[in-house]
Amino acid sequence: MISWLKNKLLNRKDPRVITKSVPLEALIEKMKEQKDIIVTICSDGVVAAECKDCKCSINVSSKDGLIWYMCGSCKRSSFNPEENLTRDIKLANQFGGKFEYEIFYFKELPPGLVPPNI
Ligand SMILES: [Zn+2]
Repeated sequence: MISWLKNKLLNRKDPRVITKSVPLEALIEKMKEQKDIIVTICSDGVVAAECKDCKCSINVSSKDGLIWYMCGSCKRSSFNPEENLTRDIKLANQFGGKFEYEIFYFKELPPGLVPPNI
């Protein structure tokens, strides 16, 4: 059954984006799981990040609709869609002005994506 479904999905000629509604509490729990980077969003829209391995601040910059996180020390990077910022600012307001969550570094960046020059 699963391989039939997998083949059917992989052979589709019209790939579509599938969206699934996730309860906010479940999403927040997932976001707060231990990863590589601690992202802090303030209710005024300021974004800060820290590399957990290097224990230093990470350069945060915006390019092509993405918010990039690049550690100057270990040279690893990650990004989030800028659209998520609206949701994160709402969460920051909900949590008293600040919302923290964690994200992973990319082992390899998706083809065609180049981080901003810093
Ligand atoms: Zn680092």
